[in-house]
Amino acid sequence: MDVTRHIARHVVNLPRSGIRDFFEVVSKMKDVISLGIGEPDFDTPWHIREAGIYALEKGKTHYTSNLGLIELRRAISRYDEKNFSVTYRPDDEILVTVGVSEALDIAFRALVNPGDKVLFHQPCYVSYHPSITLVHGVGIPVPTFAKDNFALTAEALRSAWQPGCKLLVLNLPCNPTGGTCNREQLEAIAHFCVEKDLIVLSDEIYAELTFEGQHVSVVSLPGMKERTIFLHGFSKAFAMTGWRIGYACGPAALIEAMMKVHQYSMMCASVISQEAAIEALTRGEDAMKSMREQYQRRRDFLVRRLNEIGLKCHLPRGSFYAFPCVESTGMSGKDFALGLLQSERVAMVPGSAFGENGAAFCRACFATGYEQLIEAGNRIERYVQAVVSSKDKPSAAGPQPGSALTPSLSHPMGEGARRAGEGSP
Ligand code: PLP
Repeated sequence: MDVTRHIARHVVNLPRSGIRDFFEVVSKMKDVISLGIGEPDFDTPWHIREAGIYALEKGKTHYTSNLGLIELRRAISRYDEKNFSVTYRPDDEILVTVGVSEALDIAFRALVNPGDKVLFHQPCYVSYHPSITLVHGVGIPVPTFAKDNFALTAEALRSAWQPGCKLLVLNLPCNPTGGTCNREQLEAIAHFCVEKDLIVLSDEIYAELTFEGQHVSVVSLPGMKERTIFLHGFSKAFAMTGWRIGYACGPAALIEAMMKVHQYSMMCASVISQEAAIEALTRGEDAMKSMREQYQRRRDFLVRRLNEIGLKCHLPRGSFYAFPCVESTGMSGKDFALGLLQSERVAMVPGSAFGENGAAFCRACFATGYEQLIEAGNRIERYVQAVVSSKDKPSAAGPQPGSALTPSLSHPMGEGARRAGEGSP
C-alpha cells in the first residue's frame, strides 16, 4: 500500500534536510574535523549536572505545572531583569519550554493564521522558514549583508515589508552570521515595528555569547515589551543542548495562548532539566563566562586565520560561528564545503543552508577545541592553495560530481549532526 498519499501536502513539499545527508556522510568518514554542528564542545558544567542528578535522587520524577516550576520561573525573572533590563511576572508572563525550538514552534502555532506573513532576516537559523510553513504562514526573508557585518537594518526591513505582515523574527546575535545590532540600529527597528504594529519574536539564545560591547535586547526598548515575545534558552551559553530546556516571556495574553498549545502537545518540560536550569541561572555565571572567554579566543584565531588564507571573514560580534565568504576561490559555498570535506576532511556547513543569500559563504562553528581549529586552519589553507593553483584544471580540487560526497544541500534544512548523524538541532 502506498501510504505517501496520506502525508499532508505542506509536509510533502517541505524539503528534507540535505545538511543531514551531508553529515551522515561525514559520520562515516575518519579523521574529520567538524566545524559543522552548532553546539558547544564543552559538557554541561558539573554543578549543573549534579543538580539534575540530585533531583532524580530526591524522587523528582513527576510532571510539573504546565508553565514550569515556579522556582525556575522566579529564577528566570531575576535573570532577565539583571541581564536584559526587563521584568516579567513569574505567575503569568513566563513559560518554560522544551528548548527554544519548542518556544518558536508554539509561538508560531499560537499567533499565525493561515496566510499571515512573517518577516525574518536571512541568512538565518535553518528552522525559521520551515516552522512558518508548517503553520501555513508565509515567510518573508529580509536580507542582511556582509558589508554591514550582517546587522539587520530598518531600511531593509521597510523594503521587505508588505501588507499582511504580522510578525518579525529577530535572532541577535545571529546564527549563522554572528551579526547583531547596536542600540541605535535596534531603536530604528523597534520604531518600525511600532509603526507597522508588528509582534516581535526575539530569539536571543546567543545573548550571553556577545563579544563586542554589551548585548542589548529589543524588549528593553520603549514600547517593545508589550509587543515582544522574548525567547531564551540554556543550550548555548550553559552548554546544555541535550537537556532540551528553554523559555518564553511576554505579555500574559500571548503566553497564555502559547501555554494552551504547549499544554496539549508537550505538557511540561522535563523536571530534571528544570531543576538543572535553576542551578544554571543562579550559580552558572562563572562557568558560562569561562566558556565565553574560550570561544572569544577561538573566534579571534579562526577569523584571523581565514582572512590570512584569503577567505574574507567579517568579525562575528556574537554567537560561536564564523561565516567566511569563499568567492575568492571561484566556488560556491556548497562546492567549497564538499571539496574541502573530500580533500582535507574538514566539515563546514554551506551557507546556502541558511538562505539563498548565504550561497557564497560557509559556516564554521568555533565551539571546537583550539588545537583542532589550528589543524582545521592548516587543512583549509592547503585546500584553498590547491584550488587556486589548479584554477585552470577545475576538476583537480573540487568535489567529484556524483560521488558519495555530493548529497543535495537545498534550503530549508535542519542542521545535521556533528557526530555520527545524531539528531539535528
Ligand atoms: N535558535 C537558534 C538561533 C539556534 O541556533 C538554535 C540551535 O541551534 C535554536 C534556536 C534551538 O535551540 P534549543 O536547543 O534551545 O532548542
